[in-house]
Amino acid sequence: MRAVYLDNNATTSVDPDVLAAMLPFFTDQFGNASSAHAFGTMVSPAVGEARRAVRDLLGAALDQEIIFTSGGTEADNAAILSALDNADGRDEVVVSTVEHPALLTLCAHLESSRGVAVKRIPVDAKGRLDMDAYRAALGSRTAIVSIMWANNETGTVFPVIELAALAHEAGALFHTDAVQAAGKLPINLNATPIDMLSLSAHKLHGPKGVGALYVRKGIPFHPLIRGGQQERGRRGGTENVPGIVGLGRAAHLASLHMDDDLNRIGELRDRLERGIAQAVPDCAVTGDPCRRLSNTSNIAFNRAEAEPILMQLDRVGIAVSSGSACTSGSMEPSHVLRAMGVPFTAAHGAIRFSFSRNNVSSDVDRVLDVLPGIVERARAVSLFGKDRAPTTERINS
Ligand code: PLP
Repeated sequence: MRAVYLDNNATTSVDPDVLAAMLPFFTDQFGNASSAHAFGTMVSPAVGEARRAVRDLLGAALDQEIIFTSGGTEADNAAILSALDNADGRDEVVVSTVEHPALLTLCAHLESSRGVAVKRIPVDAKGRLDMDAYRAALGSRTAIVSIMWANNETGTVFPVIELAALAHEAGALFHTDAVQAAGKLPINLNATPIDMLSLSAHKLHGPKGVGALYVRKGIPFHPLIRGGQQERGRRGGTENVPGIVGLGRAAHLASLHMDDDLNRIGELRDRLERGIAQAVPDCAVTGDPCRRLSNTSNIAFNRAEAEPILMQLDRVGIAVSSGSACTSGSMEPSHVLRAMGVPFTAAHGAIRFSFSRNNVSSDVDRVLDVLPGIVERARAVSLFGKDRAPTTERINS
């Protein structure tokens, strides 16, 4: 039976076309893109073509605004650290409470090691940024704001264009982690005030270990990785040519198919949500129903733990993810759902289903076939079961 992969916000499969584009750069076209001889000059146009494809996906004005990195985490780190290096006396960073650990861990480190003040803006029950708190946090000491374009757990989409304009009014730079947004919604950076943006190839059917940072022309940039003059001196290290070519091809395919993919994926996701709502009592979709990635559904099953649900689904060939992290035997619910104020007994039972263009209608049927029974059994053994703990209020849908 076909395995059902619904964990595409964790990573996607490499598109066969992407793999085919990469393969020659592991074999005959193995040259160093910086070499002056034929082996080098053979591969450097491919790096240029990839840069153009990423630029087109993002609607950036210039190829040189794209810096290739080792992925989203490096791009996020490079953006924040560059802004702080350039900050002219400004020493504060503003982020949301629901950022990815790629940012939150860096921010915690900067606070403890460099005395950087980090302001974390709360979100409401639907995962939307508290705009009053955001406005109040901006000031003459803000060096950079970093708010994600779309949340990886709930799919909630943030109003980054408005947020960037407000950051500029305070004289601060604006960066967005678009690792989950790139390829999943239209982006036209040249028409926005966004200064920097991160993306990652493996979230859009490209390879792992490669990504990009967009830096708008005119924004001063201090490299995170210092070395050779690769990437115009902005990211040292021999270019990962196969990876970059793969990212370029993946970006091109995403641009080409985005509209069709998103509509079809959105229909699958919505059918899954309707089916679950009909068949499983006491559960609710988390996130902002009006502004959400069309591929993501995070459903909190009240009075159940996510882990047994995930494991039972895995046993029948269905891959999903939970927001919980099992640390030393105690299950910690996701920081995103806790920040949204989702009650403990529901946050513990949250499962994320994330689709890609590879999913088909029968994947939804399979989940709907098995999930009601699996949730029922998980509830029967749950620490939060009816007779074991008081039930909480129904979470927001
Ligand atoms: N930011 C977000 C929102 C993500 O979802 C991820 C990956 O899960 C990252 C950053 C990190 O990207 P990478 O795995 O390319 O380092």
